[in-house]
Amino acid sequence: MPQPPKFKRLLVKLSGEALMGDRQYGIDPAFLARVAGEVRQVLDLGCELCLVVGGGNIFRGVSGAAQGLDRVTGDHMGMLATVINALALKSALLAEGVDARVQSAIPMEAICETFVRARALRHLAKDRVVIFAAGTGNPYFTTDTAAALRAAEMGCDAMVKATKVDGVYDQDPAKNPGAKRYETLTYDEVIEHELKVMDLTAITLAKDNKFPLIVFNLNDSGAMAGAISGGGVHTLVTD
Ligand code: UDP
Repeated sequence: MPQPPKFKRLLVKLSGEALMGDRQYGIDPAFLARVAGEVRQVLDLGCELCLVVGGGNIFRGVSGAAQGLDRVTGDHMGMLATVINALALKSALLAEGVDARVQSAIPMEAICETFVRARALRHLAKDRVVIFAAGTGNPYFTTDTAAALRAAEMGCDAMVKATKVDGVYDQDPAKNPGAKRYETLTYDEVIEHELKVMDLTAITLAKDNKFPLIVFNLNDSGAMAGAISGGGVHTLVTD
């Protein structure tokens, strides 16, 4: 029997890299289909779901700037990359039988809706998943910050961050086999120990708005629904 969810309305942040599967670049359709299945499991628990997707599998403004591109132009390209991912995610969700809408922070009306909070809330009320694309719509921000911002605006009970590891560690577990995973943390501890969870702007927004953050491994089947129900392996960050 699945456990009841601990949260009703959630914002799930998927990094662009999470959509690559085993690839080095772009989107792996098979992995995306699996992600859609994981999303369905969460909806089946009775949760309302907002998604924010990154663009790092396609383009990051910082890397463009490192190659001589103007930073703001690079960030615009990065935000467009998140729209590509959001459209792919929507398509995978529809194929899974999940109704979904994309809302972009930058208007592109021939492709998707523009972000309008009241309309996004109506989608949730109609059991639709809302995918927020184009980050905050502004350069110099990250999609983690966009996720924390939308979580606050949409009145989400928690933010869920899908990563390639099963929580927050004191050191990089890929480089240090002795790295220790935290079961729980406070936002102040994250800031004090400079733990690599999200950038400081995103952490501060989450802390100020007092919603918890759940970090889990998207590669572990069923881990998202498990973490939302308080089970499985994950790290819970609270105020
Ligand atoms: N970006 C931006 N403003 C935002 C969100 C994102 O300019 O509000 C740009 C930025 O260039 C960033 C890229 O979009 O590098 C992709 O987002 P991010 O790096 O957060 O993606 P992720 O690491 O989650 O895949």
